[in-house]
Amino acid sequence: MKILKTPVEKTTNIGPYHSGRLKRLGIFTLEDLLYHFPNRYEDLTSKKKLNEVEAGKKEAVEGVVWEIRNVRTRYGKQLTLATINDGTASIECVWFNQTYLERLIRTGQRVGLWGKVSIFNKKLAIMNPEYEFLESNKPPIHTSGLVPIYPETAGVSSKWLRSRIKFILEEAKDLKSYELLPTDILEKHNLPAWPIAIKNIHFPKDSKSRDLARRRFSFEELFFIQLLSLTRKKAWQDLKNAPAMQIDQEKLVGFISSLPFELTMAQKGAVKEILNDLKTDKPMNRLLQGDVGSGKTVVAAIASYLVILNGLKIIFMAPTEILANQHFQTLRTLLEPYGIKIGLHTGAYKVKEEVNLYVGTHALLFKKDLPKNVGLIIIDEQHRFGVEQRAKLRGKGKAVHFLTMSATPIPRTMSLTLYGDLDISIIDQMPKGRQIVQTFVVPKEKRDKAYEFIRKHVGEKRQVFIICPLIDPSETQTSVKSATAEWERLKSRVFPDLKLDLLHGRLKSKEKASVLKNFNSGETDILVATPVVEVGIDVPNATIMMVEAAERFGLAQLHQMRGRVGRGANKSYCLLFTESQSPAVVRRLKILEKKHNGLELAELDLKLRGPGEIYGTLQHGIPVLKIASLSDSRLIETTREEALQLLNSTKGTEKSLELAQKLEEENVAPD
Ligand code: ADP
Ligand code: MG
Repeated sequence: MKILKTPVEKTTNIGPYHSGRLKRLGIFTLEDLLYHFPNRYEDLTSKKKLNEVEAGKKEAVEGVVWEIRNVRTRYGKQLTLATINDGTASIECVWFNQTYLERLIRTGQRVGLWGKVSIFNKKLAIMNPEYEFLESNKPPIHTSGLVPIYPETAGVSSKWLRSRIKFILEEAKDLKSYELLPTDILEKHNLPAWPIAIKNIHFPKDSKSRDLARRRFSFEELFFIQLLSLTRKKAWQDLKNAPAMQIDQEKLVGFISSLPFELTMAQKGAVKEILNDLKTDKPMNRLLQGDVGSGKTVVAAIASYLVILNGLKIIFMAPTEILANQHFQTLRTLLEPYGIKIGLHTGAYKVKEEVNLYVGTHALLFKKDLPKNVGLIIIDEQHRFGVEQRAKLRGKGKAVHFLTMSATPIPRTMSLTLYGDLDISIIDQMPKGRQIVQTFVVPKEKRDKAYEFIRKHVGEKRQVFIICPLIDPSETQTSVKSATAEWERLKSRVFPDLKLDLLHGRLKSKEKASVLKNFNSGETDILVATPVVEVGIDVPNATIMMVEAAERFGLAQLHQMRGRVGRGANKSYCLLFTESQSPAVVRRLKILEKKHNGLELAELDLKLRGPGEIYGTLQHGIPVLKIASLSDSRLIETTREEALQLLNSTKGTEKSLELAQKLEEENVAPD
């Protein structure tokens, strides 16, 4: 067996206590332990002489122990004091409550130390330093050079990790056998081989070898993700047993021209790509991405019409009850005139009769008697579905065409990583005449003015959203409270004469439905809500979107929120409130005053705040990257190309399957 496959608890110097702790960090084998990469390095490359150290700084020094003793302070504290000398000067080391050190560290020993220099008993001293014994045959790892600092957990310190990892790297004689990247790729991209890289990522001799090692593992991580998703994509397409649709051009043109508007070029492009997929028996797996209001639903309806003409059924899944209802209404308007039957299936409503198209929520997953002849599965806002749920749906028939729709703008390189197994159609154009939502960042002192502005619009029978933020991506108690508290405050003190209502994710679906019904009908003037509205409320009469603590959101997310207004004929506004005084924060928000393209805003999020910003809006199916960054677009493109090339080369399929299999085992993959 390969040495590194050994479970941690089977190793001589890792006991059951630490094995248990390591499992919490996702570390089960020695290999996992080696893949527990440092998140930073303490630079202790320049050691100081003891006559050079200054109080107030953290320093790395070394010297010989002249004396060590335990003392008890007047207040009963246990101290261990050691006098260290390096030929230039002496210094005192001070440890608290570690009396055992007095027996461990002996006079005459050479030690390396690293800690904060302070004044103690009116003299320079190093407080609670890290220490290690310096032996001529063993280079120091804790107090000298670039010292790795690891993600830790209770009972597993960086010091402990360092010594165990060092031990494994020295003892494992088969390091060469763990290389998975093909040699030509390593050479082409100037990447160090595995045995070198794994040593240098933990104990680099200089920053250059560290950076090369980190680059190699970033490459490896992204390359495998790409390889896996491309392999899956190929395997999916190779099924070749999806229903190939006949395209009745005449009927299709008839349907499209009966729409109350002309399709945008972008919509036409997407329709064409989808129809091309549906024509063949290769199962489609396509993501339709477009801003809120760009007209994805219509595109989905056209695809549905074609599938139904072919005598097959459709499952259309929405992430929330609200959206399912909305799609149900839209699809009925569009498709019922053609004799197509639509059924709604959610927690609250169950389809009873035979229909052509089932629209609903997760509840559809549990429906026992789904028809056998499903030709197309449409998923709205796919990222809100867990990976297993997607797999479950996919598994229901044999091969089915999949269309997923998302209004979450994701930069291309990110979607290559997150949705690498999907083809992507982008609707990057809004329907003609769609107005731009005029946006203002509102400073604290203009809050009252903004309320007046709102009042004036309500006076003209318009409606308003007020969004209160979510602290956590999942709806926490706190966030609900903050919306609730704001609603109470507004209705008692600011707008006592207006009709205010409250919407958040914790309402029961019946309550939600009634809140929405009242807002839809115009009975409610102002809807205070958590960002649940982000995904899909369509009330053309709403003209103001006001967001509290806007700095907590990503630009793309704010853009999605403001997409909730500007849906009717009236001029619409987005008011972004922030209490922040930071010029950088205000500058970032002000970007929304000028830019109105979701994808562009998402790219900016990635640049300004990193991938975490977009993670926040995604929620599911995000790969946890150990070392690579989703904002490293160059490396993502490169690894994608290399993975494609490998897959298309003659030996590629075999090799990549082998690699992919390894990945599946190790569960590094995103999906
Ligand atoms: P999305 O699902 O992308 O958010 P929808 O499909 O719900 O967008 O479309 C938003 C609104 O725009 C709907 O009322 C729809 O009827 C309308 N719409 C869609 N396509 C067009 C178009 N090409 N021209 C004008 N209006 C359109
Ligand atoms: Mg929509």
